[in-house]
Amino acid sequence: MLDHNASVLLIYTGGTIGMIEDEVTGALKSFDFQRLRQYVPELNRLKFNIDTIQFEIPIDSSDMNPDKWKKIVRIIEEHYDQYDGFVILHGTDTMAYSAAAISFMIENLTKPVILTGSQLPIGKIRTDGKENLITALEIAVDKDRDGNSFVSEVCIFFQNLLLRGNRTTKVNAANFRAFNSFNYPAMAEAGTYIKYRHDLIRRVEKNVRPEFHYLLDTNIVTVRIFPGIMPQTVKAMFAIPNLKGVILETYGSGNAPTEIWFLDIIREAVKKGIVVVNVTQCASGSVEMDRYESGQTLRDIGVVSGYDMTAEAAIAKLMFLFGHGLEPKQVKWYVNLSLAGEITID
Ligand code: ASP
Repeated sequence: MLDHNASVLLIYTGGTIGMIEDEVTGALKSFDFQRLRQYVPELNRLKFNIDTIQFEIPIDSSDMNPDKWKKIVRIIEEHYDQYDGFVILHGTDTMAYSAAAISFMIENLTKPVILTGSQLPIGKIRTDGKENLITALEIAVDKDRDGNSFVSEVCIFFQNLLLRGNRTTKVNAANFRAFNSFNYPAMAEAGTYIKYRHDLIRRVEKNVRPEFHYLLDTNIVTVRIFPGIMPQTVKAMFAIPNLKGVILETYGSGNAPTEIWFLDIIREAVKKGIVVVNVTQCASGSVEMDRYESGQTLRDIGVVSGYDMTAEAAIAKLMFLFGHGLEPKQVKWYVNLSLAGEITID
């Protein structure tokens, strides 16, 4: 149901959607939102209010970082009561990381926070940016008869799918279907209508106030194993000063080399209080550390299963948990709890 008094806050951070080609080099670079808006006159025809806040300097999302996540969350907190929903224009390269981080940083969300962007700049005739932006805005104001938002989550809307933010991964550098969520179904599909899967959307108690969190700790690392990885490489990564957490990207259902040197490094790290989380390199499926002896060995030396979490979500979750000063034991406990729908645990 469309509420004609509805209002959306559009937060423009940058990304391809707002870029133009440099006349000399041909490389894409960011430009101002007011100019971007000229390319989407359709925005003036939407029957609800759209206000905009933009980063002083729009960025390529490869420059996104935790301080900028805090800035985005601060904007949402400061304007939470004034708007029905929030749309974040963001580059696609790190959109999945930002969506995951923001999903942890805002607890008890009752309104839509939708990230979108595009593969082609909005000034290009064949751009995918217009449809992404317009549909994201429409989703941001969609409500039921009682005035409750259909969507009360941090999501990514891209091409025609609304995906849970902390379940997404960028899967294509060129195709308009740039994102996928392999382990959780799309929560809405946009065609001639926007069809919501209400049963898949998280709900919090009505009248609950959201809580905004700003504490993140970046003393973590991802270790993506590969056949032939050298002992000194793994050793060096686990020896990073002040390291608190390692996201171990393993094979298949959570398997890794069973060589003594490898297991010794992990065993030592766990003993020192470093939390090691096992996520799979596969796009789809879950870590099952009971399935193979190699997985069981990791479990026995204290590696914690990340189940079907994406690496992006695991990174954001560890930053969030360590940011709140939790002890390794508590972090391990929370890793295996769904905080924002990021993990499936039977
Ligand atoms: N490099 C761009 C960015 O992430 C890519 C994009 O927006 O699609 O900002």
